[in-house]
Amino acid sequence: TSEMPAVRRAQAPGSLLQEGDLPPGQHFIDGAFRPGRSGTSIDVVDPSSARTIAQVAEGTVEDTDIAVAAAYAAKDTWGGLTPKERSELLHRVADRVAQHADLLARLESANTGKPPAVAQDDVAQTVDTFRFMAGALRATTSVAAGRYAEDHLSVILREPLGVIGVVTPWNYPLLMAAWKMAPILAAGNTLVIKPSEQTPLTTLKFAELVADILPPGVVNVVTGFGPVVGARLAEHPDVAMIALTGSVRSGQAVARAAAESLKRVHLELGGKAPVLIFPDADLAAAATALRAAGYWNSGQECGAACRVLVHESVADEFARLLVDEVATMVVGEPGAGEDVEIGPLISKGHFERVTGYLQRAEAAGLRAAIGGGAIQGDGYFVAPTVLVDVPDGAEAAREEIFGPVITIETFTEEDEAVTRANAVPYGLSASVWTDDARRSHDVAGKLDAGTVWVNAHLVLANEVPWGGFKGSGYGRDLSIYALDDYSRTKHVMHNVAR
Ligand code: NAD
Repeated sequence: TSEMPAVRRAQAPGSLLQEGDLPPGQHFIDGAFRPGRSGTSIDVVDPSSARTIAQVAEGTVEDTDIAVAAAYAAKDTWGGLTPKERSELLHRVADRVAQHADLLARLESANTGKPPAVAQDDVAQTVDTFRFMAGALRATTSVAAGRYAEDHLSVILREPLGVIGVVTPWNYPLLMAAWKMAPILAAGNTLVIKPSEQTPLTTLKFAELVADILPPGVVNVVTGFGPVVGARLAEHPDVAMIALTGSVRSGQAVARAAAESLKRVHLELGGKAPVLIFPDADLAAAATALRAAGYWNSGQECGAACRVLVHESVADEFARLLVDEVATMVVGEPGAGEDVEIGPLISKGHFERVTGYLQRAEAAGLRAAIGGGAIQGDGYFVAPTVLVDVPDGAEAAREEIFGPVITIETFTEEDEAVTRANAVPYGLSASVWTDDARRSHDVAGKLDAGTVWVNAHLVLANEVPWGGFKGSGYGRDLSIYALDDYSRTKHVMHNVAR
């Protein structure tokens, strides 16, 4: 039977936040915080205690239109800066975030329940994303000129698109905002961002922190619900492109709304990353890697290593190694110590969704080798779980659970493993564990995934692109590919005949 860890609690509840940490609960439009038109607000909840810690304005279509107008008015000035000027401002943004790293990490932990190590990593990555884009924009905006037709000189320009609408999820609120904002701004666009209604605090704080660096209207934040504010951004005629990180459903809604004005769409959606473990793999290394890659951020991670397909000859040994790793994980509130690895799930609704998957898995006869359900007490805690002997096609191995759950299936043949790995609607990421170079190359080539790791999982860097295939969406975050996505190409041809 499965073991259930206890939740470690902080001595003083709510001690993460200090006076003055919270940003104003208003929209940030045209360089200043402004109250919403509706006068109504949304509660922001700490999922480790289920207590409300702040309130933010519930944005309306009108609020969204005012923010778009501000971004539209600012676009020519921002887009007209030289690369060097824009780069310097974005470096200052990165510096400002770095100076307030501790505050931003605490605010993120208070709003999401994520452990300090995760929140601190999020902020460090945010800084690096801005630094990378601030540097990269200077190398990619210069373009080739040449003669490609007789007596004609061609100049190829990379131009900003204008105003870009951004919609972000709750799992990495600040980091996902940075993954969009940094390349969007670097490419010379202005933006209106709608953070998740559940986690708006660090995006508002970011706007507050950089208000004296970026000109008014360049970054605007409207808080509110997706079907109102997000949907308006997707349909607004003055928004040139909409970028969303979130669920497949929201991606479909945004793409549908964007079709009317034929605006560009950039979608980073869900994932169900397969982990293919072959008999020659270093099983202990794989188990250690999956401790992080499967349970980081409580598994609320689109690239999480959540679906193991292991060769039948080493399946029992691998499961034992993984369970040993999971048995030592500390579950708790973010304030309960630096060694806490697993925080709560983001909300009551999501907690019910994840525990529902676990209950149905149990009813279907799947066995939890460790964990398997909720941990009693306040907050939305689910025990880190390993489900073993999972049959091909089981719901828990097919659908995105987005919680601290790894399923283990077995396979016999290499081709079978690849076919089954690809037999889900997602295609974001995958990993292959083997010491055989031929095999790693072949299998990586056949997997439908935007990122394939070999003998690693969930290692990201700003220089390399991130994004999916199939139901995981299209467009790329990070790297010069993101800068490219947020630009348009113009060819100007001069007749130079004398
Ligand atoms: P979600 O789709 O519920 O919400 C994401 C955002 O979309 C929120 O801001 C929400 O308000 C907004 N939204 C909802 N309906 C909308 C609509 N009709 N029009 C416009 N906007 C709308 O997703 P979530 O629960 O916040 O995040 C979890 C999901 O995000 C998971 O599926 C996860 O895999 C995915 N995700 C993907 C990546 C990636 O890089 N591919 C990264 C993080 C999260």
